[in-house]
Amino acid sequence: MSSPRNDLSRALQRLDGNSYGAYKQLRDSWWLGDAELILDRVQSDPYAPPSLARLRIPLADTGIPRELLRTRDMRIAAGDFLTRRFGHAARELGPRGGKDTGGIFVQRAGQEILARSSVLLDDPSRGDVHAEIRCEIALPAAGRRIKGRAAQRLLTEVLSSVVERTLTFLAPDAAALELHVRTHLDAERLRSQLPDRGLVAFVADGAVLPRASGNRDEPLTRHAVPFETPPSLRVTLELSDGRAVSGMGIPKGVTVIVGGGYHGKSTLLQALERGVYNHVSGDGRELVITVGDAMSVRAEDGRAVTDTDVSPFITNLPTGADTRHFSTGNASGSTSQAASTVEAVEAGSRVLLLDEDTCATNLMGRDQRMRALVPGEREPITPFVDRVRALYAERGISTVLVTGGSGAFLDVADLVIGMDAYRASDLTERAREVVGRFPRPEDMGPAETFGEVRPHVPRASSGSAAKPARARGLGTIQRGREDVDVSALSQLVDSSQTEAIARLLDGIDAAADGRSTLTELVDAALERIRRDGLDALSHHRGHPGHLALPRAQDVAAAYHRVRR
Ligand code: ADP
Ligand code: MG
Repeated sequence: MSSPRNDLSRALQRLDGNSYGAYKQLRDSWWLGDAELILDRVQSDPYAPPSLARLRIPLADTGIPRELLRTRDMRIAAGDFLTRRFGHAARELGPRGGKDTGGIFVQRAGQEILARSSVLLDDPSRGDVHAEIRCEIALPAAGRRIKGRAAQRLLTEVLSSVVERTLTFLAPDAAALELHVRTHLDAERLRSQLPDRGLVAFVADGAVLPRASGNRDEPLTRHAVPFETPPSLRVTLELSDGRAVSGMGIPKGVTVIVGGGYHGKSTLLQALERGVYNHVSGDGRELVITVGDAMSVRAEDGRAVTDTDVSPFITNLPTGADTRHFSTGNASGSTSQAASTVEAVEAGSRVLLLDEDTCATNLMGRDQRMRALVPGEREPITPFVDRVRALYAERGISTVLVTGGSGAFLDVADLVIGMDAYRASDLTERAREVVGRFPRPEDMGPAETFGEVRPHVPRASSGSAAKPARARGLGTIQRGREDVDVSALSQLVDSSQTEAIARLLDGIDAAADGRSTLTELVDAALERIRRDGLDALSHHRGHPGHLALPRAQDVAAAYHRVRR
């Protein structure tokens, strides 16, 4: 691109009163003080999605301490921090976003620290290094005419101040950046210690698990009972700077969380589900850490299943369907959960997280009376309770399961955690006694093996999709005429991840050669992102849209939900 122009103010004054389409002339690169403003795409009318812009500034001209950008993890955390700061400054300094005033926007961030496309920070050990912010600007209009003065104020004054507030740190902000980066590194450090310590998850003493409400992910602030570790489960791990932190370690194997209704079981499990991510300081779950590939599994009536081998759980369907190659456009509770379980195993998850509240009862277990009433040969289901030990013994896959109503899993548990008024205790010994007093009948035995899991091999592509897939919010991917429902994937946390998955699905279709497995295709695509950044998912140069890094397991899970 040619060197940036320095007459943005004048250009905007000249456009005043022109028809809105004349804003297109701004598609160029401009000086905005020390920063370069690149307008990649300009909206064609005031009702279209806002224009796409990037701001580039040499790292040396920012106040970002270079030692906070040394590693890739540090740059991810710093980019996440600057995204939040930019959004905050834009809301505080900018107009409300009405058609006549315009507005400045950036990718929104929730409680998780994610690799995002909104801020790009170069590795400072290289030469010619920059910070780049990708934002959206709604350009102001009077009816369908350009409001040149308002645009001039928005771009040259407000945007400049927002950039300055974001990148030029005063001392207290540098401390906030450092805290954000350290919080991220601490979480990474804890997660890296789990395998060697034989753990699948860690919950630090003092963690605040409950959320403000069912639809708000911020911590509950009033009357939250901080987490306290039962003495027998106490472990001590190291933070990024070597300081010790103690809390509850959940070991590999089969863990069952029990307790009365409303005593905090699901809240603990949900914190573990989210523990695959790192959280912002003040979230309460900063030091709640789960192995990164842990997968939450639930029943999901109506989901599509394509060629999944559900035979570990289901055989002899009354339809005569081959359950080694099971497909349906409308799965039942039990078949959907069986498929999701097998697909999680295929995707390399080392931990399954299940909550009785959201599971299919008949897939979880079958009691003595029902076994007597409906003989085994008429029942297609081998319940999860009969496979859960083999899953661990054969494949090393652990399970953490919440149950309030059924004691069936006590026989197969290595650890039983009780929740009582939000306090955890180790009930393993007491559970053994109970199992001794009420033994399992002889004819109810666990299955010896889990069985093979046949990998999915996507068919070679038949030309590229007519229209790129895209996210519609967090829970839907629009792909051609189909809306793919991914709302049951509770570990998708950000619509920018959904957008990245939409593009990855197109990429996987294009790369499929009829030989590579789905897991191989997903891994290759994520490896490319690791190497080239999230911009690798962009259809064009410049502002790539709102993207955030998803987990391989969630990409695969979304793939399986496409109706084929
Ligand atoms: P259960 O699954 O055992 O029925 P939940 O986990 O759904 O219970 O929790 C019930 C309620 O208690 C929820 O409103 C939740 O936010 C709240 N809660 C959970 N843990 C705590 C805690 N540590 N302190 C205060 N409230 C909590
Ligand atoms: Mg519950």
